[in-house]
Amino acid sequence: MNSKIRAIAKRIKEYNTIVIARHIGPDPDAVASQIALRDAIKLRYPSKSVYAVGTPVAKYKSYGILDKVNEEKLENALLFVLDCPNISRIDGANIEKYAEVIKIDHHPFEDKMGDIEWVDENASSACEMITEFLITARFRANKDIAENLFIGVVADSDRFLFTSPGGKTLELMSILIKNSKIDITSVYPRLYLRPLNEVKFQSYITEHLKVTANGFASLKIDKKVIEKYKVDAGTASNLVNNFNNIKEILCWALVSYDEKLGLFKVNIRSRGPAINEVASKFNGGGHAHASGARIKNQKDIDKLFKALDAACKEFKKNQKDN
Ligand code: AMP
Repeated sequence: MNSKIRAIAKRIKEYNTIVIARHIGPDPDAVASQIALRDAIKLRYPSKSVYAVGTPVAKYKSYGILDKVNEEKLENALLFVLDCPNISRIDGANIEKYAEVIKIDHHPFEDKMGDIEWVDENASSACEMITEFLITARFRANKDIAENLFIGVVADSDRFLFTSPGGKTLELMSILIKNSKIDITSVYPRLYLRPLNEVKFQSYITEHLKVTANGFASLKIDKKVIEKYKVDAGTASNLVNNFNNIKEILCWALVSYDEKLGLFKVNIRSRGPAINEVASKFNGGGHAHASGARIKNQKDIDKLFKALDAACKEFKKNQKDN
């Protein structure tokens, strides 16, 4: 057994109060992984108090209900941070309040949070790592747990386009499906069924994307357009995933305004140059080919776009030279 997995299983056994957090602005992988881990721990240890925390998101309600915790009243509690490499982006938990912190993440390493940091950049998703943990440490996954894990893996791997090397993602999913007997065909609509107005909004984005000669595409989405198509800002962000495999586009970014934070949210994807280092210079980060940034003003957005365009140019040049 991987020594990190053994250590994590030992800590779960030792602590009676366990809180599970993930990153702000969560995606399906973040929410599904925390709820799946919470429910699997409860299944194995029914008397433990286990909570999954963070801001609830209406469209992920079917994954399970999140918990509220008063951290001031916690004593000797263990905190898990899933799918989140940096302390500043943890949603709803303060690492200082816990006796121990365990990070489980598939992003490039950023901040140290505790003694046990299981970081696997090769893993497709946090849900893949939780699946590996449950199978290896012999925790049971019932139908709900297995469906959540499958949803997280499918969402983050873009339906198995981006999997870990050597077939590990598929191997783990195969074991999960066999053991839990879930019907994966019935799970897909929970991720892919969408209203017509959203599809029309996607057409608007396609129609208005600005594409440079270097293959960088971008669009700043106006609040009025979001209102016209009756979508929310979260939908505008998520649509960034639908612009892959377009010949003329190597890297693309969508910008929407986050009213709550008073910041511009930039979602960036690439099928060419690595973009996370560029994003990290603009209050952002993420994976080599899927990153994001929060930006205060238009000027910095333009600077970010320039840097991404330059990265595309450099990538094209290197490809020609090789
Ligand atoms: P998204 O476009 O929101 O799906 O984010 C893509 C990836 O970038 C995810 O792994 C996020 O955790 C990461 N990411 C998004 N926004 C930020 C940010 N402001 N700072 C650091 N990482 C981010």
